[in-house]
Amino acid sequence: MQSRFPLPKFREIKTPFYYYDMELLDRTLESLSREAGKYGFVVHYAVKANANPVILEKIRNYGLGIDCVSGYEIRRAIDCGFKPSGIVFAGVGKSDWEIELGLDNDIACFNVESIPELEIINQIAASKGKTARVALRVNPNVNARTHHYITTGLKENKFGINQWDLEKVVTSLETLTNIKLEGIHFHIGSQITDMQSFRNLCNRVSEIMDWFTQRRYNLRIINVGGGLGIDYQYPDANPVPDFESYFKVFRDGIKLGEGQELHFELGRAVVGQCGSLVTRVLYVKEGVKTRFAIVDAGMTDLIRPALYQAYHKIENISSSAAEEKYDVVGPICESSDSFGKAVSLPETSRGDVLVIRSAGAYGEVMASQYNLRPLPHCVFSDRV
Ligand SMILES: *Cc1c(COP(=O)(O)O)cnc(C)c1O
Repeated sequence: MQSRFPLPKFREIKTPFYYYDMELLDRTLESLSREAGKYGFVVHYAVKANANPVILEKIRNYGLGIDCVSGYEIRRAIDCGFKPSGIVFAGVGKSDWEIELGLDNDIACFNVESIPELEIINQIAASKGKTARVALRVNPNVNARTHHYITTGLKENKFGINQWDLEKVVTSLETLTNIKLEGIHFHIGSQITDMQSFRNLCNRVSEIMDWFTQRRYNLRIINVGGGLGIDYQYPDANPVPDFESYFKVFRDGIKLGEGQELHFELGRAVVGQCGSLVTRVLYVKEGVKTRFAIVDAGMTDLIRPALYQAYHKIENISSSAAEEKYDVVGPICESSDSFGKAVSLPETSRGDVLVIRSAGAYGEVMASQYNLRPLPHCVFSDRV
C-alpha cells in the first residue's frame, strides 16, 4: 500500500500537512451521484466536515447542494460558487445576523429546531418583507448506536423538536405569516455503520409524515440528514462508502407522495477517506510499559482521537522493518494528545514519515492554534 503516497515528495514538504487524494474524492462523488440519482434523491454536502475551497470546488462540480450550520459556512459556500437555492441551514443556535444572511441570500431552507427560533425567523423575515422557507427538525428518538458525543437523535439531546411538541409547533405556525413550511428534517448522528439505525429512522420518518398528512399539511421536502459512516479500520479495502445499500434503505423505507422529494446531508461519507494527515517522527522514546513515537502533528491538527477516542489507522511509509508496538503521540501539552496506543508499525525512527488515515472529515476544519501552533497546511494529489 506504500505506493498510494508519494514518499519522495512528502520528504520535501514541511510536516504536518493534510494530503488529499483527489482521485479518490472523484470516485466517491461519482458513486454518490450515481446511486442518489437512481431514485432522484437530492444530496446536500455537509460543509462542516471539510470546508477547504479546493475540496468544495470539486463537490460543486458534481451538482451537490450544501448543508450549513453557521453563517460563516453559508458565506464560504457562496464564495465557492454554490447557488443559494441549494443551501440549507441547520443548527440549534442561529444568531440574528445568520438568519439575516440566509434571508438576504434567499437560501433554500432553514432547518428549525424550536418555537422561539421560528418566532425570531418570522420576525426578521417580516422586517425584510420576506417569507422564510423552513423545515422542522424533528427529534425522532432513534439511537444511532455511535459514540455518545456524535449521537444527536435521542430525546435527551439538544437537537430538534420532540414529537410530543409538534402539535404546539404547527399551531404556532398558523400565526407566523412570514414562514412557509416546506418540510421536515432529521439527523440522528454521525459515523453510523449499522444500516438498522437508518431503517429505524425510516420508520419514524414515515410515522411523522403520516401525522402531517392526517392534518392536511403538504410537505414538499423530507430531509433525513446525514451520518453514513466510513471504514476507519480498513480504508484501503473500503475507500468508497456503500452508497448503494444506504440509499436503497431509504428507497425501501420511505414512500414518497406526489411531488415530494427526499433530501440527504452527507459529510463524512463524502470526504472522510480522501484525506490523510502526514507527520514526521521527532523522537522515539522508551516509556515505562510502552515505546512512544513522538510526532510533529498534534491534537491541534487532528482532534478526533482526543475528542471522541476515535480510531485512525496509522502507517509508517518510510520503513519496512519488522513490526513493533508504539504509542503515537503529539507534542501538545495534554495527555490526550495521542493518535493511537500500541499501534503496530514497522520499526520506527526519527525522520520517518507517518500517515494518519481517514482524516478528510472533521480533521482540517477542527484544527486549532492551541500552543500558538499554526494551522496545518494542505497538499492535493493532483497538484504536487
Ligand atoms: C453534521 C451534520 C450532518 C453531516 O453529518 P455526517 O455524519 O458528516 O454525514 C448533516 N446534517 C446535520 C444537520 C448535521 O449537523
